[in-house]
Amino acid sequence: MGAAASPSPVHTDLSRLLQVREIYAEPAALESARGRDVLARFPTAQVVEVPSHWKIPELHGNEGNVERWVRVKTETLVLGVKKSLTARENSRSSNWIAPSTANGCAMACAYCYVPRRKGYANPITVFTNIEQITGYLRRHVARQGVKAEPDQCDPVSWVYDIGENSDCSVDALVSDNVADLVATFRELPTAKASFATKYVNRQLLDLDPQGRTRVRFSLMPDADARVVDVRTSRVPDRIAAVDDFVEAGYEVHLNFSPVILREGWEADWAALLRQLDDELSPAAKAQAAAEVIMLTHNRDLHEVNLGWHPKAEELLWRPDLQQPKRSQNGQWNVRYRNDVKRAGVTRLQELIAAHAPWLRVRYAF
Ligand code: SF4
Repeated sequence: MGAAASPSPVHTDLSRLLQVREIYAEPAALESARGRDVLARFPTAQVVEVPSHWKIPELHGNEGNVERWVRVKTETLVLGVKKSLTARENSRSSNWIAPSTANGCAMACAYCYVPRRKGYANPITVFTNIEQITGYLRRHVARQGVKAEPDQCDPVSWVYDIGENSDCSVDALVSDNVADLVATFRELPTAKASFATKYVNRQLLDLDPQGRTRVRFSLMPDADARVVDVRTSRVPDRIAAVDDFVEAGYEVHLNFSPVILREGWEADWAALLRQLDDELSPAAKAQAAAEVIMLTHNRDLHEVNLGWHPKAEELLWRPDLQQPKRSQNGQWNVRYRNDVKRAGVTRLQELIAAHAPWLRVRYAF
């Protein structure tokens, strides 16, 4: 690199997470305007046509090979067309889960269920039929009318989660889908977009959301995040972004998730809450709310992680505190025993009340 130009932070971040060399694409996605935009952002990538974004055998079979797994996340994108457009009813983080405009993630949190869908690598798939998706959302919002009663999601707006299967902050490095969603909700006075994120993408500060998009920065004590949040922005950077996002017109909530119980967790959460109390502006505090979600884990993911990140499993796999639960898809999940979980939720709420009394808890479970 020449002496004159040092890379901008955005550029540095993009190349840390993504150096795209190959793009698997459905033909219809390749022909679309959004597909062509993505290709233009990665002009040196080799394009491989595939009949379906779900059927790419090269992306599967990397369970135990984390180097390969992270390489796929860094070097591969998928372009597809989202076929079924439905908003799913939800009750916790949002009223509705919007149809995805992406799935997969370039980050690699050790507890994440997202990577299990498209081979363990599960690189980012961008859905290129964004106009169909935003059109569907406009009609769906119109059908709901005005929200009749406040609920914990929001006192007046219908809340749509736009990032269930991906991290929108990173998706916004790859395409304008997130920008289009923010622009769509800007014009919908009865609804709000919402997404949780572990990545600080300052390009989002230019999108002028006018209060109609809620960003939920995920936080946990840095000591935990340094072990389990792989390839994400660091926790102090996420906290430092809160005021800037509020100033840029976002609603900013905090997503305390997953809460990991271990020796010393209470002291570290108290320190995190005090840091928030010290660092956040009065404006950020006035609009803040939090959701608290205790860790759930999964037996198969535990086995995979033992192969590449056993240190994470010391935090995540605690048979002495956990109980198994068969999930709807037949997998064995584990979560903290009812009594342990209840005590943990209560204790964290007490810590919030003591150290960050301005922080309303939307829900805790
Ligand atoms: S950032 Fe979110 S979607 Fe990505 S790996 Fe971490 S938990 Fe999963």
